Amino acid sequence: IASEKESMYLVSEFAKKYFQETMLNTEEGKAIGLSYFKERGFTSETITKFGLGYSPESWDAFTKEALSKGYLLDYLEKTGLTIVKEDKQFDRFKGRVMFPIQSMSGRVLGFGGRILSNDKKAAKYLNSPESDIYHKSKVLYGIFHAKQAIAKQNNCYLVEGYTDVIQMHQAGIENVVASSGTALTPDQIRLINRLTKNITVLFDGDAAGLRASIRGIDLILEEGMNVKVCTFLEGDDPDSFARKNSFEDLVLYLETNAKDFIQFKASILMDEAKNDPIKKADLIRDMVVSISKIPDRIKREIYIQECSRIMDISEQVLLNTLAQLVKKDI
Ligand code: ATP
Ligand code: MN
Ligand code: MN
Ligand code: MN
Repeated sequence: IASEKESMYLVSEFAKKYFQETMLNTEEGKAIGLSYFKERGFTSETITKFGLGYSPESWDAFTKEALSKGYLLDYLEKTGLTIVKEDKQFDRFKGRVMFPIQSMSGRVLGFGGRILSNDKKAAKYLNSPESDIYHKSKVLYGIFHAKQAIAKQNNCYLVEGYTDVIQMHQAGIENVVASSGTALTPDQIRLINRLTKNITVLFDGDAAGLRASIRGIDLILEEGMNVKVCTFLEGDDPDSFARKNSFEDLVLYLETNAKDFIQFKASILMDEAKNDPIKKADLIRDMVVSISKIPDRIKREIYIQECSRIMDISEQVLLNTLAQLVKKDI
């Protein structure tokens, strides 16, 4: 099994190089792939740093090349790079710009491939399937390039997508990783926990991003970590925001708008439930549920005080609710 995984890593590394070369050295790659990334504002340096590439519009060009170089069909199939159907071989990725997904130590585990059109019907991103080397729920996009900055800054920005990570790097913020398509998992959070106890969630400024942020909070608190949330205006994500603003304005925005999770939840109330007592009650209960996830008892008490102050409700009521929730856990 060990050598089998090794072979899968090797074929994935080969694929990364193949997609890179196809983008930089073929007419099709330059005209379609490279110009796409350039239009998104990525510099050549950024493109190289993240190993971005292009998969040609062909049924099997990649597979043929890999086989001719001596890579075995078995591993091409196991990594999902080749799909075998009725004894015929097809490339999984066709006519897409390619984002290699790397492990903490820099090994290529799989790929995300984006279509170039903005055709709403087609799935925008296609990812490698689960395999012996690629477990979606245990991987964070960008962790290899972010790990040092995360430790140094003692904070990790968590974004949704590939392009958010890349654009923020280019803007000068390197402590950033993406959950990339899967809902955030405990394993992904534990990966960050090895480097810092502090996460700032920067999800897209849309309903899905807001929902994902709220879900993420409790998971992060459960791991005993500190969580802040910084939201963007409707229609923006970290990629689009970083592109429109200078480094100074980006940093200023993040510093001014990153709210502790209690403040963040309170701000949702301001937006949605201001004069509605039932909604307010629901939200307070929801805040106490989040607080109940915190393993540290002292921290829980401090957040209860904070919640009481912000929401203008007695600490005793909150403590009673908390006691019920914490008891249920045990
Ligand atoms: P872009 O800026 O290129 O349009 P994005 O990163 O803003 O991409 P979102 O729609 O915000 O795209 O999705 C966030 C992330 O979720 C993507 O980067 C990708 O990792 C993942 N994702 C989105 N759509 C799909 C899909 N159809 N299948 C698998 N993963 C997806
Ligand atoms: Mn989105
Ligand atoms: Mn997005
Ligand atoms: Mn985007």
